[in-house]
Amino acid sequence: MSVQRTGELSSRLEQVRERIARAAEAAQRDAQSVQLVVVTKFFPVDDLRRLIELGVTDIAENKDQEAGAKIAELTEDERARVTAHFVGQLQSNKAGHVASYADVVQSIDRAKIVRALANGAQRHGRTLEVMLQVDLDGSQAGRGGAAPDQIEELAELVTASPHLNLRGLMAVAPRDADPDDAFERLAGLSQALRVDHPSATSMSAGMSGDLETAIRHGATHVRIGTAVLGARPTA
Ligand SMILES: *Cc1c(COP(=O)(O)O)cnc(C)c1O
Repeated sequence: MSVQRTGELSSRLEQVRERIARAAEAAQRDAQSVQLVVVTKFFPVDDLRRLIELGVTDIAENKDQEAGAKIAELTEDERARVTAHFVGQLQSNKAGHVASYADVVQSIDRAKIVRALANGAQRHGRTLEVMLQVDLDGSQAGRGGAAPDQIEELAELVTASPHLNLRGLMAVAPRDADPDDAFERLAGLSQALRVDHPSATSMSAGMSGDLETAIRHGATHVRIGTAVLGARPTA
């Protein structure tokens, strides 16, 4: 494994951890209340190994085939040290497979996916932590997510499955809009959801470009790719 790459990841990781700490401090929050999830999509399993070695506890992937293959390559020890999140758009025919290796699925956006994941989790004898992805865009721009008025119904469906634990909401800020406004709306939806679902305390928001804004609005999980790994290779 390249020592140089490890050094590069180590210093970028340090910078991101500092950004999180500063943002938490500015928001008068405990930095420990913000979980860094490193999005490793497009990067090789060797980078996952380096990140685990550098103390990263949470990684995320967005494509079933790539995610399943990379996670299967980890040693038992490496696998035990990391929580694997799935954050990509889900197809119902892939959801059963995602349920075989993911620990947390953040991108549930319709009833069909809830059922497919619940069946998959049952079949594999697993319990999944799940978040509902909210569409904060409303323009059907294709970044996934359920309309805000569908959240409650999806939450009920998740709660009815013994193999799924509802943990909260996830969102991606709309492309050409102010993330401040988007994450404020997400925080409102999160608060509303917790009235009937007190365990749904997670709010996954914020990426490399907008993590400070997300933390200011209460994000408990930030999903960081580029700022840790560098620009993604273009396929
Ligand atoms: C790729 C991806 C990220 C990471 O984005 P960066 O801007 O590279 O930090 C976060 N969330 C989701 C859902 C992603 O697909």
